[in-house]
Amino acid sequence: MAMLYGKHDHETNKFLTPIFGDPAEQHDLPKYRLAQHALAPREADRLVRDELLDEGNSRLNLATFCQTYMEPEAVDLMKDTLAKNAIDKSEYPRTAEIENRCVNIIANLWHAPESEKFTGTSTIGSSEACMLGGLAMKFAWRKRAQKAGLDLNAQRPNLVISAGYQVCWEKFCVYWDIDMHVVPMDEHQMALDTAHVLDYVDDYTIGIIGIMGITYTGQYDDLSTLDAIVDKYNHHHTELPVYIHVDAASGGFYAPFVDSQLIWDFQLKNVISINASGHKYGLVYPGVGWIIWRDQQFLPEELVFKVSYLGGELPTMAINFSHSAAQLIGQYYNFVRFGWDGYREIQTKTHNVARYLAKAIEQLGEFSLINNGQQLPLICYQLVPRSDREWTLYDLSDRLLMNGWQVPTYPLPANLEQQVIQRIVVRADFGMNMAHDFIDDLTAAIKALNQAHIVYHADEAPKKYGFTH
Ligand SMILES: *Cc1c(COP(=O)(O)O)cnc(C)c1O
Repeated sequence: MAMLYGKHDHETNKFLTPIFGDPAEQHDLPKYRLAQHALAPREADRLVRDELLDEGNSRLNLATFCQTYMEPEAVDLMKDTLAKNAIDKSEYPRTAEIENRCVNIIANLWHAPESEKFTGTSTIGSSEACMLGGLAMKFAWRKRAQKAGLDLNAQRPNLVISAGYQVCWEKFCVYWDIDMHVVPMDEHQMALDTAHVLDYVDDYTIGIIGIMGITYTGQYDDLSTLDAIVDKYNHHHTELPVYIHVDAASGGFYAPFVDSQLIWDFQLKNVISINASGHKYGLVYPGVGWIIWRDQQFLPEELVFKVSYLGGELPTMAINFSHSAAQLIGQYYNFVRFGWDGYREIQTKTHNVARYLAKAIEQLGEFSLINNGQQLPLICYQLVPRSDREWTLYDLSDRLLMNGWQVPTYPLPANLEQQVIQRIVVRADFGMNMAHDFIDDLTAAIKALNQAHIVYHADEAPKKYGFTH
């Protein structure tokens, strides 16, 4: 008997249509106002994904210190824990304990002394951590100053830092009404000038920031020398001593593994707090950061707020309140997964790739190195003068972008702004094979530029090109 067919039901078959033949493709993406009607999840997903298609490939982004790779197991774990709210310590006491373990692991990594009572917290990143560190210094200074009978209205408190500071410190100073005493850098001194730092310190100084290392050049401030200078100063200023906070956003999870002999952390007596970005060399996706104080006395109690925890209370310090715990769980995963040896192997490989790149770039003959990856794994270089060269580093950035590489070109900070440099940051997911490919593409880009017919520059002023933090 012949089969009879009925009317085709489009609705039930809808999910079998190839997506680009689907009427959903015809939707105008709601851009600046809510659309009236809902879309099916699959359609919304397609539209939003497509919207993101022409963004750069993060693995080829040589501009950022932020992590662009995590293991699939870590990603799964983080997906599964996205809904946990890090601030809700009573609903998620195990998550709170994981944060506590991370603080202990990091305090230990930075040699917090056994004889003191360290304290610390996770944050969204180093910027929040720097705010907290700066606030603690401001409040602690005010107490000391009041006690010493200083006229608090005579002038604003100040913070001493080198010109290589990251923008979060400028924010801190603007938001909390602090004068920024900037110690200039020059071509001989691309980090904090310890010989002159005390010229910028007075009774109104809430603290000195040491940087591990400078985002522009990758250099570490000489913290043991700074500590010795501060020690001498404090000897004569017992009522109004000055202390050091170390901004180790990049170096905090790098130097201990690559340069374990270097003394920069709580082994130095006047270093009272340190921050680092978990999402830089802590190897977690953005945003997680950390701050540790060597002893509770350096974190004034007015800044600590209690949240409820298992029927009791837990002290917290944060600018934010609710946020996902996935990142700090990701941090703990990395600690468990890599251990000391794993971190050392990963960071050593990163270091080796940076050293290789520095050599290979120098051998091309077009560049002089400002930084060779010896400290933070980043390479900065300028063009060597050559009268017959018609292209600039900005042109080279553009050319490299044709292969997907994002390499920023920008002027150095105050005093050095006439020097335009290019910077490459090496991260854990930038392997030696990729480095070889990059050098091939760089060589080809230079050749293409040398042979290019039209290179036109209307504006010769140094400008920032690409992301540089
Ligand atoms: C990246 C960086 C910051 C800011 O860190 P986020 O984690 O991005 O907020 C602060 N200081 C230094 C030295 C940095 O390199």
